[in-house]
Amino acid sequence: MLNGKIDLRSDTITQPDDGMREAMARAVVGDDVLGDDPTVQALEQHTADLLGKEAAVFVPSGTMANQLAIRVHTRPGDAMLLDANAHIYFYEAGAPAALAGVHSKLLDGQRGQFTAAQVEAAIPPRDDHFAQPSLVCLENTHNRGGGSVWPLEKIGAVAETARRHNLALHLDGARLWNASAASGISEREYAAQFDTVSVCFSKGLGAPVGSALAGSAEAIARARYYRKQQGGAMRQVGILAAAARYALDHNHARLADDHENCQRLAKGLAKLPGLSVDEAGAETNMVFIDTGKQSAAALAKRLDDLNVRLLDTGPNTLRAVTNLTVNREEIDQVLAAFEQLT
Ligand SMILES: *Cc1c(COP(=O)(O)O)cnc(C)c1O
Repeated sequence: MLNGKIDLRSDTITQPDDGMREAMARAVVGDDVLGDDPTVQALEQHTADLLGKEAAVFVPSGTMANQLAIRVHTRPGDAMLLDANAHIYFYEAGAPAALAGVHSKLLDGQRGQFTAAQVEAAIPPRDDHFAQPSLVCLENTHNRGGGSVWPLEKIGAVAETARRHNLALHLDGARLWNASAASGISEREYAAQFDTVSVCFSKGLGAPVGSALAGSAEAIARARYYRKQQGGAMRQVGILAAAARYALDHNHARLADDHENCQRLAKGLAKLPGLSVDEAGAETNMVFIDTGKQSAAALAKRLDDLNVRLLDTGPNTLRAVTNLTVNREEIDQVLAAFEQLT
């Protein structure tokens, strides 16, 4: 419950609790651009260790983490292979074209996941007509794929193909924490397949701001340069790094609760007439609801009047994302509200 509403619009709507605010207030800070902020440095090292990489850099947003990675791995005019519904392509304001000058070659994945054969088929002959790819991007969990979790073997097959063709691999791991919570495969094990990995502290983990990009020392040194160029280097930013560290230490293990709540919601909704949900699809903290004949926007408005907030992501689609502000009892209240309206 947040401000009297059960808010399932996103896992980005959380607010720092007293413990997190206390950690922010007490953070030892310095000018991070001059290399003086021990709280940022500790978070970067901790994140690199969690992901099994040499280095990490703290950035304001997941978008910036992804876009720095693209600049590190490509040159203007290169092609980049990624799913047609990838956050990097769909929700980042055209940044790959605007900032890196990169041509996005889209793969038609299922629930955001494509195959090694699709990567192979998208690689053109070495011929002056064709933009040559230098990078493949994956997303785990996949946002527009319904929070879907990539199977490790499928990642391995794509990675093997990419490496055979000398392509770099970047993972948009904004919700990698959720993938690990669902599969039991550690973040480090997923990350081992990639050159760079971005992670968000501001989604399910509940920090107010902040993401990181991890990779080799060399890749991250270059990412730092691009971060400065794009205006993302910040001064006494230990205030924010302290919140991110608090989120990792206190809210990581509880992501499984969000997944349980999401399954409970999906199962309950599946029983209601006039709606359909793919129960099996609710693998992590997201469920997409097909509102059938009803307008999703109108239903969202009526739910809001009952203090339940969801996002309409299509004319007949609602999205619910479980998060740390919503407990199990409140999931039952959401189901009761839907029951009243359908
Ligand atoms: C949220 C998200 C991002 C980054 O979003 P920001 O709002 O820029 O922090 C990147 N990738 C995925 C899959 C996301 O869900």
